[in-house]
Amino acid sequence: MDELLTTSAAQLGAAIAARRTTSEEVTQAHLDRIDQVDGQINAFLHVASEHALEQARSVDRRIADGEKLGPLAGVPLALKDIVTWTKAPTTCASKILEGWIPPYDATITRRMVEAGIVILGKTNLDEFAMGSSTENSAYGATRNPWDTDRIPGGSGGGSSAALAAFEAPLAIGTDTGGSIRQPASVTGTVGIKPTYGGVSRYGLVSLASSLDQAGPCARSVLDAALLHEVIAGHDPADSTSIDQPVPDVVDAARCGDISGMRIGVVRELGGEGYAPGVEQRFAETVELLTRLGAEVVEVSCPNFDHALAAYYLIQPSETSSNLAKFDAMRFGLRVGDDGKHSAEEVMAMTRGAGFGREVKRRIILGTYALSSGYYDAYYGTAQKIRTLITADFTAAFEQCDVLVSPTTPTTAFRIGERVNDPVAMYKADLCTIPSSMAGNAAASFPIGLAPEDGLPVGLQVMAPPMADDRLYRVGAAVEAALQEQWGGPLWRTLPELSTEGAQA
Ligand code: GLN
Repeated sequence: MDELLTTSAAQLGAAIAARRTTSEEVTQAHLDRIDQVDGQINAFLHVASEHALEQARSVDRRIADGEKLGPLAGVPLALKDIVTWTKAPTTCASKILEGWIPPYDATITRRMVEAGIVILGKTNLDEFAMGSSTENSAYGATRNPWDTDRIPGGSGGGSSAALAAFEAPLAIGTDTGGSIRQPASVTGTVGIKPTYGGVSRYGLVSLASSLDQAGPCARSVLDAALLHEVIAGHDPADSTSIDQPVPDVVDAARCGDISGMRIGVVRELGGEGYAPGVEQRFAETVELLTRLGAEVVEVSCPNFDHALAAYYLIQPSETSSNLAKFDAMRFGLRVGDDGKHSAEEVMAMTRGAGFGREVKRRIILGTYALSSGYYDAYYGTAQKIRTLITADFTAAFEQCDVLVSPTTPTTAFRIGERVNDPVAMYKADLCTIPSSMAGNAAASFPIGLAPEDGLPVGLQVMAPPMADDRLYRVGAAVEAALQEQWGGPLWRTLPELSTEGAQA
């Protein structure tokens, strides 16, 4: 494989800035790789080759002219297809938005472009980011590069699979209940869900507005931190954006010293229903944290047991309201517009044809939970549980600097295994949902392969709101120690994909 593909984003940025290579060369290498392997992975819904090369050449010219650009200038990135970008369609992997080209860029898109990051294209996801396997995409499932019969997680399976398949060194994900962290975990990559409000939501197609959060995905902790720094910070265009300085995540990723840190293991996240290899790798990592000088204690967060149930009332409620705007009039698809049908019929026909099964399931659930007579019993109760979960976190963070757990109860499951069992699918987010509900920062870092199936396992680290830097400190410490043990990064043991192109 071309060395440019396995080089970190930090090193690529440095090499481009020092003119040891060019952004055009790096971008072309990744476009070639996409050409060769994406037929097997289906990580991309749209590849913007022409535009990416143009952007790369423009960065090269600016550097040649002596301009000082940021550390990621010229480095390619894969963008989840729920984030708007005017240079390509935004479909959210739904038929209802097929071909829709947004009229504006998301704030994070704009910030990345301004930093000289080269966007390669848009990545696959579960339709409107609802799912844990990318199988709910209207454009076919994404496959896990570790084993192409397995799911790459979801909803952001495309972004994480693109990293694991070396199709991009950086990616953007969005996380509402786990969609950055769970895909990172099952693909052996790094995924960060920043504090809610820490990164602008302006220009994200909203799923559940009180939970949605965009964040960085990468193959290394430092690369994620560098991208985090580009996208984070206050945005007046997002009313929920936090007007406070961004924690120094890059410094934390470079430091990686956790001596004296107090780390809490959450008692409720583990045990029955968790795969033995996940439990084993997690237990070893907890021991490692102690050896690295942290003080590890057990903490109890009893209300986490109700997080999944409460999430599946709040998330569908907000979704049913957010997705009402796809009414056949304003965006994308329109069915039955032949002069013979009423506006209401056109709306119903369009939504019937344009939305997939899971999206419809959530809209029905949410509409029910919000309907008069049920509102207090369902939505109201779920909100009370949300408050109790936040209180559990507050109490735990009084004793600990960060909390840890496995990211997800199992390794990557087989494609098709859970499609007819929504609750089994939902359980993939058992550990990630509490931080989404409370809005604190959380991340997943690779900690090895499960002995029983040889598939990646992730460590979830959770930090208080606006203490995102602590995630990176722990991530960097674990990464350095494990890489010394393994003799290199985990992805070095990834099976080689065939590069025969679409025929493979
Ligand atoms: N899997 C969860 C769901 O289906 C989380 C999705 C997400 O974070 N976007 O709702």
